Amino acid sequence: MLTATGHPLQRAGAWAVAVMADRRHPGEVTTADLDEVARTIGDDAARAAVADKTDARYDWWKVLFALYPNSKVTHAGRTRDRSVLGEALAVMFVPDEATGTAMPCTFCGTPAKTVWAKSTLPMFDTNKALNTLPPGVRGWPVCRGCRIAMWALPYGSWVTAGSATVLSCERPQAEREFAAQNVKRARRIIHAGFSGSSAGGRPELVALRALRTVGSGLSATTLWSFKNDNQEPWLRVTRTRRAVPAFLATVDGNAPLRRGWRLLELALTQREKDGRLTVSGQGEAARLLFEAEDGRGRSLLRQLHHLLWDTERWTRQDRASLTRLAFAYEKEVYGVEPDLTGVATLITDWIEHGSGSPRGRLAEYRNAGLSGYRLGGLLYQASFRLKLDGRTAGVGPDAWRPFVQQRPRAWEQRMLLAAEVLRMLDQRGIAVSSPPEDPKEREQVEQLVQQPLLATDDDYYFGGA
Ligand SMILES: [Zn+2]
Repeated sequence: MLTATGHPLQRAGAWAVAVMADRRHPGEVTTADLDEVARTIGDDAARAAVADKTDARYDWWKVLFALYPNSKVTHAGRTRDRSVLGEALAVMFVPDEATGTAMPCTFCGTPAKTVWAKSTLPMFDTNKALNTLPPGVRGWPVCRGCRIAMWALPYGSWVTAGSATVLSCERPQAEREFAAQNVKRARRIIHAGFSGSSAGGRPELVALRALRTVGSGLSATTLWSFKNDNQEPWLRVTRTRRAVPAFLATVDGNAPLRRGWRLLELALTQREKDGRLTVSGQGEAARLLFEAEDGRGRSLLRQLHHLLWDTERWTRQDRASLTRLAFAYEKEVYGVEPDLTGVATLITDWIEHGSGSPRGRLAEYRNAGLSGYRLGGLLYQASFRLKLDGRTAGVGPDAWRPFVQQRPRAWEQRMLLAAEVLRMLDQRGIAVSSPPEDPKEREQVEQLVQQPLLATDDDYYFGGA
């Protein structure tokens, strides 16, 4: 009756049907289930389409409008007769007639006799899609199961008044969980509008909760966000690395890491002066695990690095937790586990014992530490200084080569090194927050400290983090 295909929108809809019918899997959905789900979809849509614009129930119509802008139920000139609308919708979901020629369903390939035009299919409503149909062909053949799935889509996806986000994952359990949470939320929106759902929620947070249910295995996850607009439809794709569920399982099973994650969430939370939540730190933290296709955008490590350089903000325990979180992420997700001790000790020794104030040298390190080239220069200087003072440098250029090389993602190693240096300073109780006594040095140091923290070699070359 119903197959979850590789098409992300059909797949999300198929899972929504399974959840709404209380089945474990789309493959278990029966004809009676399809009848029932189709009735619910039609009733909800018709009720929303005749609601007053000021009525909270009108919000569901906005959701439908963003997905199916030219359908009967979302059209500006639609009838305000609920039963007429309900019938128009019911017709869309009837079983195929016994006679006539069947063609393979666009999505699942089973024989289908109903042909759907772009007005009923989300993301098919663009000029580009229009051009893919050969002349004289009325539309796409779509089987009954897929027709209902494509309209169950807003139940199984994270919807806003203008967009929808669906999840595809190698673990079906995560897809079901994502759909289940969204179906629950959709029911609230249908009855109470968006104001009835909690502020600051994000699809990434729902996705993360779903991923937490699958255990620690490897599993790639993709979020597809889209808007089906007459003018400018868009699609945005973000992904998590396959090892993210393993990382989440590690965090959940380890108290300092849980503390680190919670501190991250709190640091990312934004509130109005009256205490009202404007940005949910939970949602923002979840977002950091999803990478844009072009590799741009914030990453968890960059965010942690930024927080850790706020040297006066954290207690020793908090700093240790955030540092461990950064190490755990790089190890679990990227398999990056550099040997930091020797080089971090060299830098920490130099900050502690070099000439001038520790705060000044830390500021120098801060401004050099993410450029491989400048870090290399600083390490030579530090090693030379320590030797002049009759101390041993401990490690030589061989040990620091991995941190100063120009190669992809070397900046991650430099960020981890900085986290370890800051942790060591904290552990040794070196006061880096007190300004130098000499007024001239103080001025120089404060200038260094005020400079924006650049993130990578790329940032040095192209400007801006
Ligand atoms: Zn189909």
